[in-house]
Amino acid sequence: MATKSNLFKREQIFKDFLVPDYYKDFSCKGGECRDSCCVDWKVNISMQQYFLLHGLNCNKKLKDKIDRTFRPLINPSKDRYAEIVHTQDGDCPLHKADGYCLLHEKCGEEVLPWVCRYYPRGPRIDYLYEASCANSCERTLELLFSSSEPVSFSSFKTNFLMSKPQNLPSEAEKDNYKLDRENIFRLMSNRSLSLRERLINLGEYLALPKDSSFPKKDDLEIVLNTLSGIFNTFEGKFPRVYELIEKANKVYQNSKVSVYKEKLRIFESTFPNQEVLFEKMLVNEIYFRQFPYQKNMVKTDQFIAIIGIYLLLRFIGIALIEENDNLDNLIDIFSKFFTVVSHSDFDKQIVSYLKANKIATLDIIAKYIAF
Ligand code: SF4
Repeated sequence: MATKSNLFKREQIFKDFLVPDYYKDFSCKGGECRDSCCVDWKVNISMQQYFLLHGLNCNKKLKDKIDRTFRPLINPSKDRYAEIVHTQDGDCPLHKADGYCLLHEKCGEEVLPWVCRYYPRGPRIDYLYEASCANSCERTLELLFSSSEPVSFSSFKTNFLMSKPQNLPSEAEKDNYKLDRENIFRLMSNRSLSLRERLINLGEYLALPKDSSFPKKDDLEIVLNTLSGIFNTFEGKFPRVYELIEKANKVYQNSKVSVYKEKLRIFESTFPNQEVLFEKMLVNEIYFRQFPYQKNMVKTDQFIAIIGIYLLLRFIGIALIEENDNLDNLIDIFSKFFTVVSHSDFDKQIVSYLKANKIATLDIIAKYIAF
């Protein structure tokens, strides 16, 4: 039976991790960051971390500030026990004006909550030793987009302080994981095909059912209406994504198809390599979330979630980019989108929405991703 002490047990894991090419070059931009992860984010900490912070031996002024920064949740669990109480501006009270962290500065890295210490890095140690950085950090996207080569992976010795998983997969399950992921990354990086064709191949690889009953009306109009309808479904749930969809809907307004076609022309001429950008973001997201081996989600639903993410990225990005916009603006839109997508149950919600709109078979998905 698990005891309190082994539930909380963390170990230094010092291993060769498989990492994407940009990983070794990552370093936080600190005060240079345009949309710091300390602002507006719902950061939760574990029970262990909460009591560690409340027991810190530091001066009274800092202790008071720490005590007021972390508040227990109404329905706490061992892993999600307390949350950061943001200031009126949505910032973390411990985030200094120079972009650095007061807690880090005064008490050292060891006391930082896990998410603050490692973000945007996501180590995974259940199937294989893997680590990558979340697309929600603007520096990750900057590094990803700094090369037009497909994302490659290599071994990198690094360490993380983390709990070992309680139920490890069998060797056969690990082999399947490795093989599936290798096949998927090869498939996603095959530039002899369009990204749309690669996504269809990915759906086929995961045995998504086929059904060719797409309505006869103008396809593009149906696609745009479905995507703008997500706005109503997500109202109040994911404010950062909601805000982006709201802005995009205002751009498309009533004459969606004609506005969309003009915005698409602008988008493609502003970012002639746009397909490479989408490919790299999707590959990085797939790697980060252990696709298609995420917990509590069947493989076909994980695929539908990736399709939903891709559709929304395009819907929002195409709407919000202006003629001669620069890459930083695009990165700001996409990294903001991923602050929700990569760190919440957004994927489950988008799958429910798409399924409710009958976007769950390969033929229909193929029509949608043609836009
Ligand atoms: S979003 Fe990334 S670059 Fe910006 S402060 Fe957070 S970790 Fe640093």
